[in-house]
Amino acid sequence: MANHRVSGHLVPDAVSGHVALEIANTRAGWGGPSPREYLVSYDALAVWAGDVGLLSTYETRRIRALGSASPRVAQRVLDEVLALRESWYAVATSPWGERPFPRADLDVVGAAAARAVAESRLVPRADSRVLPDGGDLSSAGLRLPANRVALAAYDVLASGDVAHVGRCAGHGCGWLFFDPTHRRHWCIMAICGNRAKARAFAERRRSERRGAERRGAERLGLP
Ligand SMILES: [Zn+2]
Repeated sequence: MANHRVSGHLVPDAVSGHVALEIANTRAGWGGPSPREYLVSYDALAVWAGDVGLLSTYETRRIRALGSASPRVAQRVLDEVLALRESWYAVATSPWGERPFPRADLDVVGAAAARAVAESRLVPRADSRVLPDGGDLSSAGLRLPANRVALAAYDVLASGDVAHVGRCAGHGCGWLFFDPTHRRHWCIMAICGNRAKARAFAERRRSERRGAERRGAERLGLP
């Protein structure tokens, strides 16, 4: 968990190694009692999407202006992206190979990807793949970031990379990252890894202290 400020918004640092997983990291504390939300407005969504490269600088600037001109539509798209993020997180963290994906969540991702493809043009890319682009400002309008997120998620599913998604073991984190070696534990070692070490150290000290107190009480014959 770490962040930086862009255009007046706090955005999470990109640590996952895969743009599709960055959307999961726009929330911290997955499954915990007090999650931290980065996508607090449509404008924050647009700035985040520009920061991770899902929108160009021009698209980000234009879509922020469009969003502030149509706040109700913008809010609907934000709600859609948050629901998509929820389902995508469930799919991406489903223990691959042990049980099927959560069907309803997979269908949410599928429907979002299908709509994104319908609003797309096919565009050749530098890696020789020809992929749907999620549309542009005139075809997708305010839904452009939603489309790009859905297509990025679908790309992870279609490529099989979903089998290599890791989840940070840090307390109150739950961020995702691409982990082909399956040996990474932390989103950021210097933050979640060190916090876990500090917690383990404190816990060890507490149990040592409790043990010493118990032994002291036994010597004195106390109950
Ligand atoms: Zn973490």
